[in-house]
Amino acid sequence: MSVDPVLARLDADLPQALDRLMALLRIPSISTDPAYAGDCARAADWLVEDLKGLGATAESRPTPGHPMVVGHIGEGRPHLLFYGHYDVQPVDPLTLWHRDPFDPAIEKTDRGEVIRARGASDDKGQLMTFVEACRAWIAEHGELPCRITFFFEGEEESGSPSLIPFLNAHAAELKADIALICDTGMYDRRTPSITTQLRGMLREEVVIRAASRDLHSGFYGGLAANPIQVLARILGTLHDETGRVTLEGFYDGVPDTPQEVLEQWAGLGFDAAGFLGRVGLSHGAGEQDRTPLERIWARPTAEVNGIEGGYTGAGFKTVLPAEARAKVSFRLVGTQDPEAIHRAFVAHVERHLPPDVTAEFPLGDGAPATRMDISRPEFEAARAALSDEWPNPAVFVGAGGSIPVAGCFRELLGMESMLIGFAHDDDAIHSPNEKYDVTSFHKGARSWARILGALARA
Ligand SMILES: [Zn+2]
Repeated sequence: MSVDPVLARLDADLPQALDRLMALLRIPSISTDPAYAGDCARAADWLVEDLKGLGATAESRPTPGHPMVVGHIGEGRPHLLFYGHYDVQPVDPLTLWHRDPFDPAIEKTDRGEVIRARGASDDKGQLMTFVEACRAWIAEHGELPCRITFFFEGEEESGSPSLIPFLNAHAAELKADIALICDTGMYDRRTPSITTQLRGMLREEVVIRAASRDLHSGFYGGLAANPIQVLARILGTLHDETGRVTLEGFYDGVPDTPQEVLEQWAGLGFDAAGFLGRVGLSHGAGEQDRTPLERIWARPTAEVNGIEGGYTGAGFKTVLPAEARAKVSFRLVGTQDPEAIHRAFVAHVERHLPPDVTAEFPLGDGAPATRMDISRPEFEAARAALSDEWPNPAVFVGAGGSIPVAGCFRELLGMESMLIGFAHDDDAIHSPNEKYDVTSFHKGARSWARILGALARA
């Protein structure tokens, strides 16, 4: 089965494909706000009907939260699971939108035409790139080149509370040869990417306490311990002068980035000065002996995200506070173990506490990093297919954030994931005036059509 007529069909059907996406975008499926539960169910039903239109068996499956959409089509091998999410982020502040977030439209911008609406990029537009590719294959050839299971979640933007129980309950039904996840971006407008490593995350809060109540610095200053000063000193010891994290055993399980990947990244010509310049910076902080891309994609970090304590209102109050607190997050890579790092963090803080001062750790939860097995043939097949569609060859990239579903697929279903997406940095996901480039939508669908053909042969 040739992919060429499928691509031609996607070109000819673009206006209808955009209409379908607009219909889905009109449903305000905000998962975090219970007021929109009915709309989330409506978005799930819309997708079920659309999948049935392809000839798939599809159902909206209830969960304690919002429904999951599961659909099946085709048989034989390879068997691919496609994941996307139909829920969206809230739209506040509404005053910053220049149109109704749920009244989508095509707008002309100096970077080309965009689809403007909440969810246009994250993740309805991305999700529909895959569905449209399937539709075009079926229209041209009467069938798909692969067996496909569709799996659409409705709680991704609200912490995925039903995901793990659902995967456990339906493991046999959902396990495929490999998962395809469309919720990431391109490296740049000309260069598609497959995200092959995702940093994990450990979240910590530390509460430092000293005296039994706030004290007056005129009476007690110079004699009583000050929790803010203790906290500041401890936070200052989390890194050494070279930018390395000082927790004991922190770098256990941190792998070296493979040479071939480092070479690919070097070939990207990443403009660190421009990247920092856009946010008013000029000097890279962190590990000085690593390249900037390694630092944001492949190296672990420790960052203080917030500090609270004492008096910060108008005027002045000479207070020695009874407590101070900080939130600290760690991005994890390789096989770094969140629990071991939590213990090392606790031990590190406690080692630095002076007498009379105590520390409490109310959080300490995390997830390890995910790194895909790029030696599997599907990765090279997908990379070649993407390279055929876009001006530049596709690259394997890391991502600083985490996409928990990929870790869940691996841990619960024993299934590797390929993360391929067509979003851009300026899509304003989670922000006012979210958009998706029409080019991303159209060439994204063409990319998936090619990838399906390539995976059938891989
Ligand atoms: Zn998303």
